[in-house]
Amino acid sequence: MSSQTDTNIQVLLARRPKGAPTEADFRIVETPVPEPAAGTVLVQNLYLSLDPYMRGRMNDTKSYIPPVEIDAVMGGGTVGRVIRSDVPEMPDGTIVEGLLGWQSFATVKPKHLRIVDPALAPISTALGVLGMPGLTAYFGLFDLGKPQKGDTVVVSAASGAVGSLVGQLAKREGCRTVGVVGADEKARYIVETLGYDAAINYRTNEDLSAAVREAAPSGVNVYFDNVGGPVTDAVFDNLALRARIVLCGQISLYNASKQEMGPRNLTKILMTRSRIEGFIVFDYLERYPEGLKNLSTWLASGEITYKEDIVEGLRNAPAAFIGLLEGKNFGKRLIKISDE
Ligand code: NDP
Repeated sequence: MSSQTDTNIQVLLARRPKGAPTEADFRIVETPVPEPAAGTVLVQNLYLSLDPYMRGRMNDTKSYIPPVEIDAVMGGGTVGRVIRSDVPEMPDGTIVEGLLGWQSFATVKPKHLRIVDPALAPISTALGVLGMPGLTAYFGLFDLGKPQKGDTVVVSAASGAVGSLVGQLAKREGCRTVGVVGADEKARYIVETLGYDAAINYRTNEDLSAAVREAAPSGVNVYFDNVGGPVTDAVFDNLALRARIVLCGQISLYNASKQEMGPRNLTKILMTRSRIEGFIVFDYLERYPEGLKNLSTWLASGEITYKEDIVEGLRNAPAAFIGLLEGKNFGKRLIKISDE
């Protein structure tokens, strides 16, 4: 492998995947480290966030963010260190978070970066609990889910970056929390460490609807949906009156080459007078400071915790991303690009 500071390793989108992505859909190249133009800074990326939404950006379809072009660097959130700067407010050594992509260096205007305070928490958390996934849990749960004390809150992908936090925040509000996960190890973790009241393994449970009924005997008041598919069908079977469904993600469908036609089980929504609402975290940009302030306070006081799943080396990013879509991550999946 080349030295960490003289070459820019970049992961490009080589072709659009059909179904589940493979490593051949990516190409890794080495290019010169870019020179910062006036008014921009050169950042050495230290961590790259791997997120399920990236699968959608590999398709040539219109979404809330444009697709990655073929032969372009894969997009993604990063935390890095400013290593060359003539910008007074962002001197060399500043730790920054931004959307600098799957590469080891990038030049960027400071307005596209957020300064990260390394004294607050490990800097990698700016991509997890104190970053986009944390804010997704925070605004999705509180603004759309509107949890009330005594409510039962069901969360799918409950051990992941978003779901692990949703359960803890709902518990803090005095709710009964039920997490749906894909492994026994994850089920144990969400109950023993995150404080979920019950866990359901959707891969081994033969009757998911009955499992949800047992875990949520008074019905589901809030469903934080990260996955869609059969897990969501089972929760819909058990909605309480006027349930709130936060449609945050549909990861079980991201690799599908043909989208299913029409929402399913709408009779259940009608009978229970429930509300489903789509959620995109970027709509809350102006309120990020509020979310980050509260999440930082609760992290510092030990009221919330987090788990990271760090894979070493940018060259391993394609395999690590493919694994994320298969549930092989356990916690917030990150690539460590370079030593801090
Ligand atoms: P996670 O850390 O939760 O990782 C993804 C997890 O999804 C896997 O670990 C796996 O967990 C689960 N999963 C994978 N395939 C399936 C399947 N077929 N059925 C059920 N579960 C599956 O990722 P994030 O926390 O980053 O993201 C969670 C969801 O939130 C995603 O859908 C993502 O797109 C969405 N999201 C939405 C945002 C928004 O603004 N709307 C912003 C951020 C995230 P397991 O082993 O338990 O199955």
